[in-house]
Amino acid sequence: MSKTCPICGEPSDDRYRPFCSKRCADVDLGRWMSGRYAIPTAEEDEPDEDALAAADRDPRPQ
Ligand SMILES: [Zn+2]
Repeated sequence: MSKTCPICGEPSDDRYRPFCSKRCADVDLGRWMSGRYAIPTAEEDEPDEDALAAADRDPRPQ
Protein backbone atom coordinates (compact mmCIF):
# COMPACT_ATOMS: atom_id res chain seq x y z
CA MET A 1 0.00 0.00 0.00
CA SER A 2 1.98 2.92 -1.25
CA LYS A 3 -0.44 5.77 -1.35
CA THR A 4 0.50 9.33 -1.71
CA CYS A 5 -1.04 12.45 -0.34
CA PRO A 6 -3.59 13.82 -2.84
CA ILE A 7 -2.72 17.32 -1.75
CA CYS A 8 1.03 17.51 -2.04
CA GLY A 9 2.06 14.11 -3.34
CA GLU A 10 4.14 13.12 -0.33
CA PRO A 11 3.84 9.59 1.04
CA SER A 12 0.72 9.34 3.14
CA ASP A 13 0.86 8.86 6.89
CA ASP A 14 -1.24 6.18 8.56
CA ARG A 15 -2.44 8.71 11.08
CA TYR A 16 -3.73 11.09 8.44
CA ARG A 17 -4.22 8.90 5.42
CA PRO A 18 -4.80 9.31 2.69
CA PHE A 19 -2.94 12.48 3.54
CA CYS A 20 0.62 12.97 4.72
CA SER A 21 -0.16 15.31 7.56
CA LYS A 22 -2.92 17.07 9.40
CA ARG A 23 -2.11 20.16 7.43
CA CYS A 24 -2.98 18.51 4.13
CA ALA A 25 -6.01 16.84 5.68
CA ASP A 26 -7.23 20.24 6.78
CA VAL A 27 -6.65 21.63 3.32
CA ASP A 28 -8.78 18.92 1.78
CA LEU A 29 -11.42 19.28 4.45
CA GLY A 30 -11.55 22.99 3.91
CA ARG A 31 -12.05 22.53 0.20
CA TRP A 32 -14.73 19.95 0.78
CA MET A 33 -16.60 22.05 3.28
CA SER A 34 -16.40 25.36 1.49
CA GLY A 35 -17.16 23.89 -1.89
CA ARG A 36 -15.19 24.82 -4.92
CA TYR A 37 -17.84 27.21 -6.11
CA ALA A 38 -18.06 29.18 -2.88
CA ILE A 39 -14.49 30.17 -2.19
CA PRO A 40 -12.12 29.92 -5.12
CA THR A 41 -8.69 28.90 -3.91
CA ALA A 42 -6.02 31.14 -5.28
CA GLU A 43 -3.30 28.64 -4.45
CA GLU A 44 -4.08 26.57 -7.50
CA ASP A 45 -4.32 29.52 -9.81
CA GLU A 46 -1.46 30.93 -11.73
CA PRO A 47 0.04 34.15 -10.44
CA ASP A 48 -1.70 37.20 -11.77
CA GLU A 49 1.04 38.35 -14.06
CA ASP A 50 -0.98 41.28 -15.31
CA ALA A 51 -1.24 42.65 -11.81
CA LEU A 52 2.43 42.08 -11.20
CA ALA A 53 3.36 43.75 -14.47
CA ALA A 54 1.06 46.67 -13.73
CA ALA A 55 2.63 47.09 -10.33
CA ASP A 56 6.05 46.94 -11.90
CA ARG A 57 5.14 49.65 -14.37
CA ASP A 58 3.61 51.78 -11.69
CA PRO A 59 5.86 54.81 -11.43
CA ARG A 60 7.28 55.01 -7.98
CA PRO A 61 9.98 57.55 -7.32
CA GLN A 62 12.53 56.09 -4.99
ZN1 LIG B 1 0.42 16.25 1.93
